[in-house]
Amino acid sequence: FSQTLIMSRKMLIDGEANNNISNNEEEVQYDFDLFVIGAGSGGVRASRFSAQYGAKVGICELPFHPISSEVLGGVGGTCVIRGCVPKKILVYGASFGPELEDARSYGWELNEKIDFNWKKLLHKKTEEIVRLTGIYKRLLSNAGVKLFEGEGKVVGSNEVEVTQLDGTKLCYSAKHILVATGSRAQRPDIPGQELAITSDEALSLDELPKRVVILGGGYIAVEFASIWRGMGSTVDLCFRKELPLRGFDDEMRAVVARNLEGRKVNLHPQTTLSELVKTEDGITVRTDHGEELVVDAVLFATGRIPNTKRLNLEAVGVELDRTGAVKVDEYSRTNIPSIWAIGDVTNRMNLTPVALMEGTLFAKTVFGGQLSKPDYSNIPCAVFCIPPLSVVGLSEEQAIEQAKGDILVFTSGFNPMKNTISGRQEKTLMKLIVDAETDKVLGASMCGPDAAEIMQGIAVALKCGATKAQFDSTVGIHPSAAEEFVTMRSVTRRIAFSKPKTNL
Ligand code: FAD
Repeated sequence: FSQTLIMSRKMLIDGEANNNISNNEEEVQYDFDLFVIGAGSGGVRASRFSAQYGAKVGICELPFHPISSEVLGGVGGTCVIRGCVPKKILVYGASFGPELEDARSYGWELNEKIDFNWKKLLHKKTEEIVRLTGIYKRLLSNAGVKLFEGEGKVVGSNEVEVTQLDGTKLCYSAKHILVATGSRAQRPDIPGQELAITSDEALSLDELPKRVVILGGGYIAVEFASIWRGMGSTVDLCFRKELPLRGFDDEMRAVVARNLEGRKVNLHPQTTLSELVKTEDGITVRTDHGEELVVDAVLFATGRIPNTKRLNLEAVGVELDRTGAVKVDEYSRTNIPSIWAIGDVTNRMNLTPVALMEGTLFAKTVFGGQLSKPDYSNIPCAVFCIPPLSVVGLSEEQAIEQAKGDILVFTSGFNPMKNTISGRQEKTLMKLIVDAETDKVLGASMCGPDAAEIMQGIAVALKCGATKAQFDSTVGIHPSAAEEFVTMRSVTRRIAFSKPKTNL
C-alpha cells in the first residue's frame, strides 16, 4: 500500500498522471514552477504557500477597481474588494440604526434627530479595502511571489500569456498553472436589465438609494435587504420560492423571513420581475404579478457565473461544465495534468474559507509532497442578515433524506435577554439535529444575534464527531444565548425512519 501511495504521490507531483509526458520532458526548464491566474482568496493563498515550499511562483491579477469587469479586478479579489469585507462593513453600519433605537430603552437619551451619512461610510469602506489590497500585495512580495498586473490567459498546457494595461503581452512557461479567477454576478434577461445593478455596484453607490427592489432569494439578496432596511430605505425583496435562502433548513428560512418582515422588509415570494423602465421619478419595476413599484435602485442578486470566458481553457483542452466552471478532480486538478483550478471558478462551494482550504491543499499536494484532499464536510457558513443566520452540518431536510434511522430534532426559541429591556419583538431560534441511534450531532443552526460567532465553535465540535450527550455535559456560559446549545434537554420532535419504497 505505501509503495502505491509513494508512486501515486510522485505521479501527481511530477504532473505525469494519466498522460504520457516522458521523464525527459521533466527536465525542461520552465520560467516558473507555478503560475497563478487571479490573486483573490484562493490564488493568493496557493501562491504564497507554494512559494513557502520552495517553488518559484508568478501570479497575475487585473488592475484594481471596486467594480469588477473582464479587465478590472484587484489583488485580494472578490472577498476583499467587493464581497465579504465591504459587505460586513455595511452590515455593521446598518446595525447601528436599530441598535440606537433599542438604546433608548436602556436609558440613552437620544433626543436629537439622528442622521446617517452614507458617503462617510462609503469613503471609510473604500479606504479599508485599499488598505487590505495593499496588505495582500505585501503578503505576496514577502513570500517571494512575482506579481504581474494584467489579464492572464492560458495559451498552452505549460504556457501563460499576460496582457498588460498598455496592451503589451508577456509570455511565461510554468510547470504548473493554477486557474483561480473566481466568479462574477450574472444578470437575468429581463427587459430594462441595464437599469439594474449587481452587488459590485451596490457596495459602491454614490448615494444611498431610498427605495430599492432586490431580485433574488440567496444570501446576497437577503443581506442587502437587511443593509438597506437598516439604513432606513424602503426595501422590496422578490424571490422565486415560497421562502428565501433555498438550500438552508426550512424552519430557519421561515425565521429569517419572519425577521425580515418584522423589520419591515416587504417580501414578495414566488415573484419575479418582468420589466424595468426608466421614469422621471426613478425606475418603474413591474412584477409578474402585475405589481408596479417605483424605486431608486434595482439589485439583481440572481447568482454568479465562473470567470472562464476569456481564459482560452477549452482551446487548450481543459474541460468545463455546463455552467462554464472548470472541472477538477478531488485534488483540484483538471483533465490536463499541468493545469489546476481552485475557488469559485470550479463552482464547488463558493466561500472564501473554502477557496483558502483548496489553495492550501493544492500547495501541499503539488509542492509540499503530501497528497491532500479538501474535506467538504461540516463547513460552517453564515448569512449576515440582521439578525444573522449561521449553520453547520445537515439541515433537518438533509438529515431526513440521508437518514439510516430515526432523527431527533431539538429546538430552542426564546426572546434574547437584550430584547426584554428594549422591547424588540424578535425571537432567536437554535436547533440541533441528532442521529437517534448513535447520538451524534449531525447539524446545528441558529438565527439570532452573534450566530456566526457562536457557530464557529459548534463547528469544531461537529468536526470532532460530538454526541448530544457531550453537548449536554458541556457547562454553559451564563448568561448567554450560546448556552442554549448545551441545555436543550427535551426532544422537540422525533422523525421516524421510513424505508425507501420498493416495487415489491
Ligand atoms: P476571487 O476572490 O473572486 O478572485 C479571483 C480573482 O481573479 C479576482 O481578483 C479577479 O479580478 C481575478 N481575475 C479574473 N480573471 C482574471 C484574468 N483573466 N487574469 C487575471 N486575473 C483575473 N464568502 C464568504 O465566505 N463569506 C461571505 O460573507 C461572503 N460574502 C460575499 C458577498 C458578496 C457580495 C459576494 C459577491 C461574495 C461573497 N462571498 C462570501 C464569496 C467569496 O467572496 C468568494 O467565494 C471568494 O472570493 C472566492 O475566492 P476566489 O479566489 O475563488 O475568487
